Amino acid sequence: MTPAEAERKMQFLFALRSRGVTDRRVLEAMEKVDRGPFVRGLFANRAYEDMPLPIACGQTISQPSVVGMMTEALQITARDKVLEVGTGSGYQAAILAQLARRVYTVDRHARLVREARLIFDEMGLTNVMAITADGSFGLPEQAPFDRILVTAAAEDPPGPLLAQMKEGGIMVLPVGQSDHVQSLIRVRRTASGYEYDELRKVRFVPLVEGLARET
Ligand code: SAH
Repeated sequence: MTPAEAERKMQFLFALRSRGVTDRRVLEAMEKVDRGPFVRGLFANRAYEDMPLPIACGQTISQPSVVGMMTEALQITARDKVLEVGTGSGYQAAILAQLARRVYTVDRHARLVREARLIFDEMGLTNVMAITADGSFGLPEQAPFDRILVTAAAEDPPGPLLAQMKEGGIMVLPVGQSDHVQSLIRVRRTASGYEYDELRKVRFVPLVEGLARET
């Protein structure tokens, strides 16, 4: 690592901490996963800023501090099987893969899934599977999951996702009717039902039903 790279990395981690990401394991995972390869084209030189950035297919790679906060809220353990809905660039999935036993990540855009797979291969990540699918139905063939993370906003938690949580499982997702402000909520499945708490306001692209056409 050059001194400039080391400096950039330190600033990146400092920004995460100062925005409330405190879990040591999450910070370590985020230190390991270089955001650079996940941001291409015009915005590649801004990969180390704490900003959401545009990616292919009109989608967005989330802000690193939001990725950190959501990962923390999931309370992942090394035995967990995790589903992420909304692969996007693959950045969030790569971080989940540092913490969990196995990660399934789905996106409705086949191109995003293909590009994310290439980066996972380059990184040597073997415990993350990217699949083209409509995540509003979850991933029935791999269910149930210990943890579910949704990185696109729905009006309400989709029923199939609630059904695919294990007892004791946790799901974190943005919900809300507006495209501008949504609430990030955490759902826990207990023996008797579901418990909900609101974490903070966020802004995500919408969860859209159906697979996207190849462009
Ligand atoms: N987690 C991503 C950011 C996701 S942006 C990252 O780390 O880069 C939200 C993604 O959700 C987009 O790529 C969009 O295509 C996807 N998406 C929206 N609706 C979906 C659905 N029904 N099923 C699967 N993916 C969906």
